[in-house]
Parts: sequence; structure tokens; C-alpha cells
Amino acid sequence: MKTISIDLTPEEYCVPELMRRAVAGRLGIGDDALETLHVTRRTLDCRRRNILYHTEIAIGSPDEFATPSSPRFPAVKADAPRVVVVGAGPAGLFAALTLLEHGIRPVIVERGKPVEERKHDIARLTREKTVDPDSNWCFGEGGAGTYSDGKLYTRSTKRGDVGAVLRTFVAHGADPDIMLDAHAHIGTDRLSGIIARMRHTIEEAGGEYHFGTRVTDLIVKDGHARGVTDAAGDTIEGTAVILATGHSARDIYQLFHRHGWLLEAKPFALGVRVEHPQQLINEIQYHGRGYTPYLPPAAYSLTTQVGTHGVFSFCMCPGGVIVPAATAAGQQVVNGMSNSRRNSPYANSGIAVTVGLDDLPPAAKSANPLSLLAFQQEVEQRMFHAGGDAVNAPSQRLTDFLRRRSSSRLNKTGYMGDVTSAPLHELLPPFIVDSLIQGFKDFDRRMRGFITDEASLLAVESRTSSPVRIPRDKETLQHPQLQGLYPCGEGAGYAGGIVSSALDGIRCAEAVSLQR
Ligand SMILES: Cc1cc2nc3c(=O)[nH]c(=O)nc-3n(C[C@H](O)[C@H](O)[C@H](O)COP(=O)(O)OP(=O)(O)OC[C@H]3O[C@@H](n4cnc5c(N)ncnc54)[C@H](O)[C@@H]3O)c2cc1C
Repeated sequence: MKTISIDLTPEEYCVPELMRRAVAGRLGIGDDALETLHVTRRTLDCRRRNILYHTEIAIGSPDEFATPSSPRFPAVKADAPRVVVVGAGPAGLFAALTLLEHGIRPVIVERGKPVEERKHDIARLTREKTVDPDSNWCFGEGGAGTYSDGKLYTRSTKRGDVGAVLRTFVAHGADPDIMLDAHAHIGTDRLSGIIARMRHTIEEAGGEYHFGTRVTDLIVKDGHARGVTDAAGDTIEGTAVILATGHSARDIYQLFHRHGWLLEAKPFALGVRVEHPQQLINEIQYHGRGYTPYLPPAAYSLTTQVGTHGVFSFCMCPGGVIVPAATAAGQQVVNGMSNSRRNSPYANSGIAVTVGLDDLPPAAKSANPLSLLAFQQEVEQRMFHAGGDAVNAPSQRLTDFLRRRSSSRLNKTGYMGDVTSAPLHELLPPFIVDSLIQGFKDFDRRMRGFITDEASLLAVESRTSSPVRIPRDKETLQHPQLQGLYPCGEGAGYAGGIVSSALDGIRCAEAVSLQR
């Protein structure tokens, strides 16, 4: 097998005969003399008018390019140690798979429902505007990663073997193309099937699932976490507990606070979701080409500094929709997702401003580790009231926000719910408003046309990462006061996004196996 690096036009990349011709031309041979081509890496470079795919292409016989097969885990022994994994998000699921590799039986405890049932609650949320606190866009099998864009963007090899995570997704049904891109995505329509297949793998190897089981306490014996108690008062025991409950499990932070177990306030980010017509973003990014069959819906990634605050685009969804991501009554939260084809007419992105303890008023800047969580909650409640005490998203046109005036007319939107005109420039904390205004102006300098009457803001983008950290020892990954408790994933403050949460799950499970 031979590999070459070659730049291809979008048309050459998309049309197989043209790709073969370009590769053959590079090698100086006729295209009928070429074996099978297999793209192993691709990056779309649209910085110049001459848009190109930088590719690496392997040339060989078809059987050299097999898709990774489903990993097989020999069933754990009947008397295998049991480890409780709280939360079936990416961190919990990858922890469970790794425990199985070490002959340990994972006992997954999940407050929500299996992915097939969860989708009905999400449909009800949109239809009836009532949030089930155990089954919603963030809670349920697969966690917040299930009904998401499925962008797989952690490339930091320091956190672990990203390739292994991607191969596991492919083995459970993701498009093998996710192995090629620096900014791969799976799509929400594919993710639920993948999560269900991962459950089959885990159960076949002896893992257990307890759905509809909300953990309300830990069982602690002699300073060692030995299991959990659920809302019904039942107990589930294990030799250790991996706590992977995500950044929206506020009851878990309250539980720690009540017991006096160590927690720390953690800087996070809060802002709005901005939505443009996808065609407009294509025109900006593709130098005037609003539509071309050979290019994907265009994306962007923007970041700037305004005084002491970072302002950045977050979870940008080309061809996506905006979703109501609250996890309890009385909150208003938005997030974005897309399906695998990214074929909605809208492009949306969180635009978030960093928030730290120094941003809180002196009275709120207490030693309380939940003070940033309280700030996040307060803004979400204010937005809920502004939306008319329903899961309606308060919204404003971007140009009106910049002029600090209410919108008398709103644009059409891809929000999965209703929108209400609201003065976001008055509702958001002043330092967020000032930073966003400067940030948008800077983004427009870099992407001319970003500021337009056609752009809408929806609030509030508040679940960017956890405002609380559950500390753990750097070596053993256990909580400093609770042996056998492994705070894990985004909720514990050690990950952000699907891939890094999955990697953290793997790390915690490895750490558990070392303690056996
Ligand atoms: C709409 C949306 C789109 C997103 N898009 C992307 C994207 O494109 N790319 C990306 O990388 N990231 C995306 N994210 C973020 C990503 O989903 C999270 O970073 C990731 O899922 C975090 O993984 P986790 O396992 O740590 O926690 P979570 O996925 O939050 O999982 C936590 C699990 O714990 C369960 N749980 C909580 N409390 C309890 C309890 N008391 N008892 C029992 N179970 C409990 C929850 O039900 C949940 O299933 C998106 C998030 C949302 C909401």
C-alpha cells in the first residue's frame, strides 16, 4: 500500500473518476493502472478563493481498507468485581467498556430512559413545553452527547487515544469517514443507534444497566465509596463508584455540598446562540459561493479577547437547529445540534463569554463553591421568565442587540420551540453584554457580513461547561475525601465535549483497575 499527499479541488474530491484522474496524473500513470483509492485524511482549506481539500490517499487493494469490526469483550466471570458507573453519557459508557476489558462488571445507573424511549420525551418537550427532569436533551441514555451535532473535535493526544474512541464509534455504526476529518461529526440521527449498539456490546459482555434510577446519595463505609442509593431508597453496591453525571446534574453538586465533601467553583462561559441563514455563512466562508454541490455547509470558529474576557464561538452547527436544553422546570437554556446531512437552512453557534469568580458581585463572591452555579441558575431563570414562563426562547435580532434596542420583528428561526422578542441587552449581565457586543464587532471584521439583520440571537447559552469541579487526586483520580469515588467527565470538570468525556471515562476505568 502506498500513500500520497495531494491537494484536490472540491469537485475532484467528490467525483470518484476525477479523483482517480488527479491521483493518476500525480503518479504519472494511466488511471486504469490505479488500484483502489482510500482517503485517510482530509482538511478543507477555504482560506483562499481557490478552495482545496488537502488529502492523504492510500492506494492498495480493497481488502487492505477493512472497516474496524465491533470490539468483542469476553464475558466477565460470574464473580467479577462490580463497579458502579453513574451516568450513561460518553464518559460513563466508555468507562463501562474499559472496565469490561479489565474483567470488571460495570453496573450503569442512569436517571433517564433507554435512547429509544427518550426520544418520545424530547418530542413531548417540544410539543407540550414541559421538561421531564430525568429525560430531556441532556439526561437519558447517551447523555448530552446523544441528541447533539456529534462533533468529534478533541485532537489533543495528551488526553488519550482519540483514534480508539473514534474506532469504537465506527464499530458501533458511525460513518468510517469520522476517522478522516480534523472536525468530524456523526449527526444526531445516527447517534441514537450507535448508543443502543454500545448497550448491546456492554450487556453481552456482562455489564448491567439500571434505567430510571436517579442517584440521590453515595454509600460510604469507612471513608470508602461502596455504592449508591437511588430516589426510591434502593441501594446498588460495588467496590468503587465512577461518577459521570454531566454538567447539568445540579442535584449531585448539592449532594456533595450538603455532606461537606470537597467541591470547587470552576470558571465557565455563558452567552447566546447566534443563528444565520446557512447560505450567508457559505457565501462568507466560500468567497461568494452560496451553494455548491461539492462543498459541505460552511462552518466557522471564532475567538477574541475583550478586556479580561474571552469571547468565542462554541459548538457551531452548520445546517443545524437550536434546541431547548433545560433540565428542569423554570429554566431556559439553548444548545445546537444537527443531523448527519446538516441540511437545515440555518447555521447556529453558541457565542460565549468566559465567567469567573471575579465577575460576581462582592456579596456573591463567597467561599461557596456553588457561587458560579448560582449565577448560571439565576440567568437561566431570568430568561425563563422573559420567555413567558414557558420554554420559549427570548430572542432579538443581532443588529438590535448591538444597538441596545428591542426587536419589533424577529427573523424566522430553526429553534425547536417558540421564540419571544426580549431585550437581551437588558436581561444578560452587563459584562456579558459588553463583551458580546465587542466580540460580534470583531467577528464581523474577520467574517464580513457576520453582523446582519438576518442574524438572530437566542438565549441563553449557559451549559457550555461545568461551573463546579469535583476535585480528584492527580494520580489515583479518586476524590480527596472519598476513597473509591472517581469524579469523571464533564460534570466533574475534567472534560468538555463528547470525545474528551469519553477519554476521561477510559482514564477513570483504568485507574479503577489499578486499585484491584
Ligand atoms: C444539544 C447538545 C449538543 C451538543 N453537541 C456537541 C457536539 O457536537 N460535540 C461535542 O463534543 N459535544 C457536544 N455537546 C456536549 C456533550 O454532549 C457533552 O460534553 C458530553 O455529553 C459530556 O459527557 P459526560 O458523559 O461527561 O456527561 P453527560 O453526557 O451529560 O452524561 C451524564 C449522564 O448522567 C446522567 N445523570 C445525571 N444525574 C444523574 C443521577 N443523579 N443519577 C443517575 N444518572 C444521572 C444523565 O442522565 C446523563 O445521561 C452537546 C450537548 C448538547 C446538550
